[in-house]
Amino acid sequence: MSESLFFTEEHELLRQSIREFVEKELAPHAEEWEAEGFFPNSVFKRMGELGFLGLHYPEEIGGGGGDYFTNIVLVEELARCGTSGVNTGVAVQVGMATPPILKFGTQEQIQNYLVPAIKGEKIACLGITEPGAGSDVASVSTFAEKVPGGWKVNGNKIFITNGYRADFMTLLARTEKVKGYKGMSIFLVDRDTPGYVVSRKLDKVGQRSSDTAEIFFQDMVIPEEALLGEEGRGFYNIMWELQGERLLVAVACAADAHIALEMAIEYAKERVQFGKPIIKNQAIAHRIADLASRIEALQNLIYVTAWRFDHGEYPVKEISMAKLLGAQLAFEVADYALQIFGGYGYMNEYPISRIWRDTRITRVGGGTDEIQREIICTAMGL
Ligand SMILES: Cc1cc2nc3c(=O)[nH]c(=O)nc-3n(C[C@H](O)[C@H](O)[C@H](O)COP(=O)(O)OP(=O)(O)OC[C@H]3O[C@@H](n4cnc5c(N)ncnc54)[C@H](O)[C@@H]3O)c2cc1C
Repeated sequence: MSESLFFTEEHELLRQSIREFVEKELAPHAEEWEAEGFFPNSVFKRMGELGFLGLHYPEEIGGGGGDYFTNIVLVEELARCGTSGVNTGVAVQVGMATPPILKFGTQEQIQNYLVPAIKGEKIACLGITEPGAGSDVASVSTFAEKVPGGWKVNGNKIFITNGYRADFMTLLARTEKVKGYKGMSIFLVDRDTPGYVVSRKLDKVGQRSSDTAEIFFQDMVIPEEALLGEEGRGFYNIMWELQGERLLVAVACAADAHIALEMAIEYAKERVQFGKPIIKNQAIAHRIADLASRIEALQNLIYVTAWRFDHGEYPVKEISMAKLLGAQLAFEVADYALQIFGGYGYMNEYPISRIWRDTRITRVGGGTDEIQREIICTAMGL
């Protein structure tokens, strides 16, 4: 199977233009943004101007009118910018916090939130996880109580990517005092709403250039029009969102695995020990061959599954398989690549150390390895 089965000439032209942007405007700042623990908001603005934040959204609302594969190209190319936090922040903007607006939103919500998000004028975050509700999304307890003219929200969200800087949140909250997945709804909430409190930017092991925050809602009153989609359907609608999210995480994982392996091969060809390049040891070359084969298999699973998703299917099992395999393989390859670099690999000045730190989160975020296995088991009737 070749990439051309899935990527047209237009995709390749898009790839070229994103690659040039990444090389010229992102990669030169990677070190600085890692050290600062933040990439500037101007990255969103610039990417909006270039049309990269709305590739798959309809042209009528300022998007590029492309398919899901345009976002795949975006994530694959951003993986080359040298600081994964940028990829994560942008992926949340284009592929996680905003797709529900197009799918479930009113024209007014599309104009007020999605259109500025496509332009990079508003930054979005997605609020699902809470201190007491991680893997078990059905236990979300942030409560939106109906009040005259709207809703009063109390609760708190944690680990929210883009949360420190976001202008609005796509928020999952409970709207009925029942247990479980029933009685939840999604809202679009402006950051400047009184009672919306960004309490702190969290200090992470990796993905250091992306911001991750804890956010509180204290008697936050939002209007009726803040409701996104049907009241009470929030859990189902967020599960729909998670499919596109997990696929994009898998795409980033495969891209990171490719990059880490390329780095390892290049280094192993140059590094001489015992009088020969270390790649000349069959133990090393064979392990590289194994990993390359598994990356190729993962890549094809991702593309086939993405094609099905893009053509209206809902391949939940294969999406979870791609996410599970991707997260595990990306970390395994990064770990082996670090091994190839020996002591140098453990030094911050070598980019492989950053990939190793950054890929670890993919086994947790977007649903852990264990949760993907649960989903696969359920789909298999186990
Ligand atoms: C850097 C970062 C960015 C994130 N960004 C966002 C974001 O933008 N928005 C958002 O809403 N969330 C975000 N998250 C949250 C992320 O989705 C959760 O951390 C993840 O879903 C796991 O939840 P938890 O951390 O509460 O772990 P827990 O659910 O407490 O799990 C702890 C451990 O128990 C295991 N476990 C739990 N249940 C089972 C089970 N039934 N069977 C077997 N094992 C089980 C888990 O797999 C895990 O290993 C982010 C997290 C991080 C670290």
